[in-house]
Amino acid sequence: MSRVSAVRFSHFLPSLLLLLAGLSAAYVKDLNVFFTSLFNVLPTLVLLLGGSYCAVYRRQRELFLMITVYIVYFLLDTQTDFYRDNGRVREDAAVVFHLCCLLLPLLFSIYALWQEKTHLFRDFVARGAVLLAVGSVALALEQSYPQAVLNWLAEIRWPALHGTWMSLIQLSYPMFLIGFLTLAAQYWYQPRPLHAAQLVGLLGLFWMLPQTFILPFTLNIMCSQVMLMIAAGVAHEAYQMAFRDELTGLPGRRALNERMQRLGRNYVLAMSDVDHFKRFNDTHGHDVGDQVLRLVASKLSKVNGGGRAYRYGGEEFAVVFAGKTLDECMPHLEEIREIIADYDIKLRHSDRPQDDQQGRQRRSGSGASSVSVTISIGVAERQAEQRTPEEVLKSADQALYAAKGAGRNCVVASGQTRRGAVRMESAAG
Ligand code: GH3
Ligand code: MG
Ligand code: MG
Repeated sequence: MSRVSAVRFSHFLPSLLLLLAGLSAAYVKDLNVFFTSLFNVLPTLVLLLGGSYCAVYRRQRELFLMITVYIVYFLLDTQTDFYRDNGRVREDAAVVFHLCCLLLPLLFSIYALWQEKTHLFRDFVARGAVLLAVGSVALALEQSYPQAVLNWLAEIRWPALHGTWMSLIQLSYPMFLIGFLTLAAQYWYQPRPLHAAQLVGLLGLFWMLPQTFILPFTLNIMCSQVMLMIAAGVAHEAYQMAFRDELTGLPGRRALNERMQRLGRNYVLAMSDVDHFKRFNDTHGHDVGDQVLRLVASKLSKVNGGGRAYRYGGEEFAVVFAGKTLDECMPHLEEIREIIADYDIKLRHSDRPQDDQQGRQRRSGSGASSVSVTISIGVAERQAEQRTPEEVLKSADQALYAAKGAGRNCVVASGQTRRGAVRMESAAG
């Protein structure tokens, strides 16, 4: 599967919706007391719920992202409360604000890029140590040399680049820019919902900081939304784990079971199975077998006529055509069978056999650098007497069995099974 096809708008959708909701809420003037009290507790509530959710799933990266956002929220909220109550900012407001503008994108990006690889406890300690080190150095400097730190932070280093639109300290912009670029690269190489959420989250924080003292409750709202984005990313990935097949990226058996409960009266189910796949695995190795399954899945996912493909298990795939008749579906299944049969699969170098025996088997096999496979398909349209989709699936399975008996690389419909497995070769085949 190419990277472009793995990039999905749906990865960004929950975070973008949260961002939009946050932006709209932040611009609402004269919030009534219900909302002001809600926004006062929201960040803490989200941290507690989201943080415990991450802890249960042992997602420490996300937990630390939330903690970082919450600490910044806490520091700045103390300042905005003072400002709201007294009509002026506290003496340390500038230095605290600038430090947050510098360290938030830095810490957020570090945690976002830091994948969980080591032992859970060691990972937790390492992340905690980074937070503690950065936090205590910043605090110590801020306490000991407030004016010197402020001067250093607020200094305009690149006058030529300084714009009137810059409402944050200059140093903050390269921090955010590096953050955006590295997080975008991370998403490009690993297109996952969480990586998308981190990217949109950083955007939300970038928008939030300059508004902190201007729009009331921006800080509370956006910090909550960003923490929610992270939690939603974790939930999205958990959902994918449950409903998507990891190898092929197709929806899996659980998704099929759910879909089957929501089919109306008229539908067609097809069961397809890769021909002689055990032999293929033995000849070319399991890794090439996996590559072939991915390819078959990607072709099946593009079936026309409104069909939706699912990985049923192993090398078997189901295709669901809701609201369709057998006659409407057959040409599309024939088409996909033919596309797969005609496709030359190029073997990459990384597909080298893992051991000598496999290598010998492979060399003694076709020996070519491209291979091909075929699939057999059994199809069944729901009949009036069939009460459940499982019965229809069983008919499709029987038709598949007949297709295997009829010589493989063909599509057989359930009705034809009863008449005795008529082979349905395409006109060209
Ligand atoms: P037939 O034409 O009758 O379907 O023959 P077959 O060899 O395909 O049938 P069988 O069901 O005996 O073999 C299925 C094989 O599929 C066995 C297993 O090695 C392989 N297989 C199942 N799941 C995977 C997978 O995830 N990856 C790989 N590489 N192989 C798999
Ligand atoms: Mg099989
Ligand atoms: Mg098979």
